[in-house]
Amino acid sequence: MYNPIELSKKTEQIVVKDNLKKYYRFRPTRFYGGISTADTVGCNLRCKFCWSSNSVWNANNTGQFYTPDVVAEKLQSIADKKGYHQLRISGGEPTIGIQHLVELLEKIKSKYLFILETNGILLGFDEQFVDCLSYFENLHVRVCLKGADSEEFSFFTGANVGFEYQIKALQYLKEKQISFNIALVSVNTEKKQRLFQKLIELGLDRIMFEEEEIKLYPMVRKRLRNEGLLNVFE
Ligand code: SF4
Repeated sequence: MYNPIELSKKTEQIVVKDNLKKYYRFRPTRFYGGISTADTVGCNLRCKFCWSSNSVWNANNTGQFYTPDVVAEKLQSIADKKGYHQLRISGGEPTIGIQHLVELLEKIKSKYLFILETNGILLGFDEQFVDCLSYFENLHVRVCLKGADSEEFSFFTGANVGFEYQIKALQYLKEKQISFNIALVSVNTEKKQRLFQKLIELGLDRIMFEEEEIKLYPMVRKRLRNEGLLNVFE
């Protein structure tokens, strides 16, 4: 087991240098009806169903460093060529390296919507991080809960803590009136029901909610099989 906050710090030392951050690919994708995507390197979780491989598990040897200006320029240029109005970061955890992320958001023109796909760990750990995000009007945050409770979170990620940070992130986002939605990976109906009850108690039941589909790419299938978990997701 590992602590995701400690892993965030170790990962940041590898993938962030001043305001530069590592990325390994820039591409148009069909998600959200078409979105320009920058694939970053490094994550603070190790989800067993993750489709990323080297970008998460071998950050040292993956990608190159880019300034926020260059990332913003590449994202917006792909969007312009494809006629997209949405931008995002995928492939790893975009909240690692707050200075880089904030400077990148500052470079995004208001005609685009930036969708921040995150596991929410660092947002729940540091309320000031969420304060920084509240200044951006063309931002939507998608927090993906890795499990419906602490037990399922640890089962999926191998981390000793983290689920409560994810819930805290939702609370901070709501308090600061930032546009956001909740995604969930869970295979347990009872736990899901208890989570829905918890969200009602926290006043989060009116937030858009989606269940994330786990895509069983060959490499994901292999990892799940090695963990004895393939049948859980099939
Ligand atoms: S949080 Fe996302 S990028 Fe990180 S390990 Fe989990 S699925 Fe992969």
